[in-house]
Amino acid sequence: MKTIEAQCRCGAIGLKITGEPVAQIYCHCDDCRAAHGAAYVASSIYPAQSVQVERGQPAPVVVKATQRMRCVACGTHLFSEIASVGLRSVNAFLLPKGEFNPQLHVQCQHAVLPVVDNLPHYKGFPASFGGAEEFVAW
Ligand SMILES: [Zn+2]
Ligand SMILES: [Zn+2]
Repeated sequence: MKTIEAQCRCGAIGLKITGEPVAQIYCHCDDCRAAHGAAYVASSIYPAQSVQVERGQPAPVVVKATQRMRCVACGTHLFSEIASVGLRSVNAFLLPKGEFNPQLHVQCQHAVLPVVDNLPHYKGFPASFGGAEEFVAW
């Protein structure tokens, strides 16, 4: 099975990720924006057991609702727990080059910055994520 490694910016925490992502997305939700201090966030989502901490001790933080794991030394956000569906959402900026191939934008209703590209721009979530097939007009 395919295995990739990712680490925080200082290297104290290392992740081992096995298998293929369930989805790779850009999230514009207010929770991600607040946690990252960014206009939107790149996420690569895997079954929780596919994302293992190999090295170091990430610390949980909750900004709004989602539990996110960070490195306390450098502040890098590593992954979020989407515990209700048994998924972990990895900060896609930490993946090796070429491993992030985004398929869609979600939670565009919260967007502060329209991102015009050829991907679908969901108002909330797609039906496969339990949402409605509604889009924003970018
Ligand atoms: Zn670090
Ligand atoms: Zn989000």
